[in-house]
Amino acid sequence: MAYNKIHINPISPEPPRASVLVIYTGGTLGMVYETKGKQLVPFNFEQVIEKVPEIRRLDFEITFLTLNPIDSSNMNPDIWVELAKIIDDQYNLYDSFVILHGTDTMAYTASALSYLLEDLNKPVILTGAQLPIGVARSDARENFITALELAASVREDGTPVLSEVCVYFNSRLLRGNRSKKQESSDFNAFHSENYPHLANAGVRIDWNFPFIKAYNPDAKLKIREQLDTNVAFLKLFPGINKQVVQSILGISGLKGVVMETYGAGNAPTDEWFLEAIRETIERGIIIFNVSQCDGGRVAQGQYQTSKYLKQVGVVSGSDITAEAAITKMMYIFGKETDHAKCVEMLGMPVCGEMSV
Ligand code: ASP
Repeated sequence: MAYNKIHINPISPEPPRASVLVIYTGGTLGMVYETKGKQLVPFNFEQVIEKVPEIRRLDFEITFLTLNPIDSSNMNPDIWVELAKIIDDQYNLYDSFVILHGTDTMAYTASALSYLLEDLNKPVILTGAQLPIGVARSDARENFITALELAASVREDGTPVLSEVCVYFNSRLLRGNRSKKQESSDFNAFHSENYPHLANAGVRIDWNFPFIKAYNPDAKLKIREQLDTNVAFLKLFPGINKQVVQSILGISGLKGVVMETYGAGNAPTDEWFLEAIRETIERGIIIFNVSQCDGGRVAQGQYQTSKYLKQVGVVSGSDITAEAAITKMMYIFGKETDHAKCVEMLGMPVCGEMSV
């Protein structure tokens, strides 16, 4: 597919120290208020460059590639694969990649890309904003410019500091598949409860090196192009009834369910519920246990209310986020057909998305 590309040369007379490809997908950062209504709608990204003239003062080359801009509530697995393909196609032309994305589903996209971009050894940073870039108080400028700086950062030996998919927002750099949007109005929208920040951007950039993925000079990017959407969430709540549980677990073609449980992975012990879980697993559907708590982890067997889940073969999601869990299932079912292998891969970290 032919994409619209705009190239920005730095004004500095020095040779540029890096080249970054910015992929614009949409989101509030590049939205404007509709003239008639009060709704935010995406606009043509070429106008964003006029709004951030300071990017020309950065000492690296920036190329913008724009997709059809969307509100990220319309994000889907086809676009995740499209993004992976763009990065693969352009991989040798740029040192790093910044993806401008709506905040609503950014954690899903960051998680999906962390799986799809196998053996990545360049930075891919997603960022966005809570207010459009044209608004005086917008957080867009800082998020965007610092994401570019982080993406272009190198170690003393010239290798990139980052070689993984990250989310940068409000001074924090997070591992993408550990991030979660937790705030819809505060600027401090993204958190990573179960994994330390990779960097904090204050006056200086404080890197948290022990937690950053090690750079592998021999890694050769391979992308996956299949995601299987025969997955579902089953979120437990006190009062959930048999019909709701059976309807979700009985969906035709279903291959896996992310079951959002209480606390350390606990679920009701009603006979009908446990029977539904056991029978579903016997039909070959994989159930992945993820906690409704943002912090802490699933420990199946710690309480009597999770012991049975372990016995019948529910897979523990440990400290994975719901976003990383559902996209992990899509990725694994898109890649593997062997049931035992899928179970094994789900229970183990693929690219730093969970601790074991
Ligand atoms: N609805 C917007 C989106 O996710 C929100 C944002 O960008 O902050 O595209």
